[in-house]
Amino acid sequence: RVALYVVPTPIGNFGDMSSRAIEVLNQVALIACEDTRHSGKLLSHFGIATRKIALHDHNERDRAQWIVEKLQAGESIALISDAGTPLISDPGYHLVKHVREAGFDVIPLPGPCAAITALSASGLPSDRFSFEGFLPAKEKGRCDKLEALREDPRTLIFYESPHRIEQSLASIVQVLGEDRQMVMAREVTKTFETFLSGTAQEILDIVRHDPNQQKGEIVLMCHGFVTQDEEAIPTVALNTLTLLCEELP
Ligand code: SAM
Repeated sequence: RVALYVVPTPIGNFGDMSSRAIEVLNQVALIACEDTRHSGKLLSHFGIATRKIALHDHNERDRAQWIVEKLQAGESIALISDAGTPLISDPGYHLVKHVREAGFDVIPLPGPCAAITALSASGLPSDRFSFEGFLPAKEKGRCDKLEALREDPRTLIFYESPHRIEQSLASIVQVLGEDRQMVMAREVTKTFETFLSGTAQEILDIVRHDPNQQKGEIVLMCHGFVTQDEEAIPTVALNTLTLLCEELP
């Protein structure tokens, strides 16, 4: 079936490549990769010799039309990123939108995603969560973003790079508070996989004093906002009560 296939790839452990992913990548005419050299290693490991083309943030819009023309010519395409699920803090959104608008099928394969994998083992509430991608690099933007999320009751998930982990944790302590429960998942599915849990201040202290904790790939997860006084009457209810009291005889 002629389609654009969205194909997740491992986030660090080649054992997580699915047999369906291998099958699709072998069958399509072209694989659109974020970085052809990077993906070349994975593809050759699995003996996949399909032609590769580059699709990254800078050429995605131009490439989208070219890919639609390939689909019109009857050629199926697969989209992969450097690791994990395409479109999740990775290129692909414009392509998928364009391909759908052109009337072609987009077929997703399930597979590795750092956010979901980390959340599943974090011990934090997973019934409701908000994936927030990367926090802004500049302190002001980062703090503004965290301020907007401060009273969000859902578990918050952030991606982070090792060279900014300390600053981001410092901003979390400053805005969400030193007592906010959180989990830092590092190098998930890899040899040095580590899960640290504690308050924001405890995690910051550990990361500050242990340079090893500042290495590799990181997912930060924060417990959602918990009302200080669980017994407190919500403001909306309180307002209704005040109104009722005024009206009642
Ligand atoms: N598309 C990917 C996914 O589905 O997870 C995410 C790509 S994003 C450019 C890269 C970020 O994902 C890293 O900076 C890190 O925050 C997170 N990440 C990727 N692999 C990871 C791993 N093995 N352990 C922890 N975090 C990881």
